[in-house]
Amino acid sequence: MDKIIFASRNEGKIREVREILKNDFEVLSIDGIELHEVIENGKTFEENAKKKAVEVYNQLFVPIIADDSGISVEQLNGLPGVDSKIFAGENATDEMNNQKLINEISKFNPPHLAKYVCCAVYYDGKNLISTFGECEGRITTTPNGANGFGYDPLFLPNGFNVTMAEIDAETKNKISHRFKAFSLLKELIKKNGDEL
Ligand code: IMP
Repeated sequence: MDKIIFASRNEGKIREVREILKNDFEVLSIDGIELHEVIENGKTFEENAKKKAVEVYNQLFVPIIADDSGISVEQLNGLPGVDSKIFAGENATDEMNNQKLINEISKFNPPHLAKYVCCAVYYDGKNLISTFGECEGRITTTPNGANGFGYDPLFLPNGFNVTMAEIDAETKNKISHRFKAFSLLKELIKKNGDEL
């Protein structure tokens, strides 16, 4: 099976992407590999995801996949968006980010409509491919559940009355923004491979 390196140190993401691509690629992470830090200063998910893929490729010279993702809340005009990881500050934990989100949306009446967004990118030194996925839902101010990561205890996906952190990993991986983006990416990488 072809090996591919996922430019991420986020354990939650690595687990999900490994599962999504398991029939097509052996996904290796950059865990334990020393690399220059990629500064995520892009204005869009796509800019950041491309930056991660290209900068890691330029140090390892093997095919790379990367993603940039986050949550966009309608009443907060799309925030935290590309700053989801650092919403409560540079070294914020998931708990700190979740608390800040609760504080911010408590100023508004429910429903607090939101969506997860993911841009997935593949780069092999020549081909640069990007795909997108979204998962719509709403935010609750009462955190629930211990599965998943990040904002999952606060996010109720459409069609569910429980949070993403109460849903099992298998179900999340059928409805998530990451599943949609990486499933499309997988098809395009395979198509690209056939044409080479
Ligand atoms: P990135 O590493 O810059 O892409 O950071 C993404 C951030 O967005 C994470 O640290 C989470 O806070 C949030 N996020 C992205 N995807 C998910 C998800 O599937 N569940 C919960 N939070 C997510």
